Amino acid sequence: MKKILAAVLAAAVMCTSILALAGCGSEKKELHMATNAAFEPYEYQESGKVVGIDAEIAQAICDKLGYTLVIDDMEFDAIITAVTSGKADFGMAGMTVTEERKKSVDFTDPYTTAIQSIIVNEGETKVKTADDLSKATVGVQLGTTGDIYVSDLEGAKVERFSKGADAVLALTQKKVDAVVIDNEPAKKFVEQNKGTKILNEPFENEDYAICLKKGSELTEKFNKALKELKDDGTVKKIIDKYIKA
Ligand code: GLN
Repeated sequence: MKKILAAVLAAAVMCTSILALAGCGSEKKELHMATNAAFEPYEYQESGKVVGIDAEIAQAICDKLGYTLVIDDMEFDAIITAVTSGKADFGMAGMTVTEERKKSVDFTDPYTTAIQSIIVNEGETKVKTADDLSKATVGVQLGTTGDIYVSDLEGAKVERFSKGADAVLALTQKKVDAVVIDNEPAKKFVEQNKGTKILNEPFENEDYAICLKKGSELTEKFNKALKELKDDGTVKKIIDKYIKA
């Protein structure tokens, strides 16, 4: 009896370790992604779920690496702190790689590029070029590269909003003369707000990448998965699904 019990126990132990090694069953580890789901087409809420380019690329990376993806929605300017404090495993939010941010987090290789756009009301006479921003009141999203760019412009008055949509609302109410924000979300905002338009004056080329805690061993794994997903066309397919040429 004792022998049988020992054998059953040994078998059980072996099964569990094989399962753990294979990473199957309900043992799959979760990875938390910090984002701000108010940035269509990269991340936005749809029927209570966060969808978009970043959500899908993150899902593909997690599938490849054998993790369960959990998306945590927060303000954009809380994402880096969530990552550095370990509350989130990575941040992905149409986030531009900047030297300043590199001081607090590591970035993966870029997965796409973006440019800053200027949104104005139809018939706007004061802001016709990027140069005109320096004599205008400009709405931006707090803590973004648009915020940094406009804050550096001498003469520009900056109004900061926690959401891009609130900056655009202020524009339609003529509380600001222009909004500076990334080009693809800018297109969505203009679609959703009659009487606004994008100035044909793109500026500031940027790279989007995923940020991780400094020294995280996940970064290399993410880069490898990302490279495979770029090489086999998955990244392009996801981007093309959300951004129609
Ligand atoms: N690309 C901009 C940045 O990284 C804006 C990102 C965002 O608002 N989600 O600052």
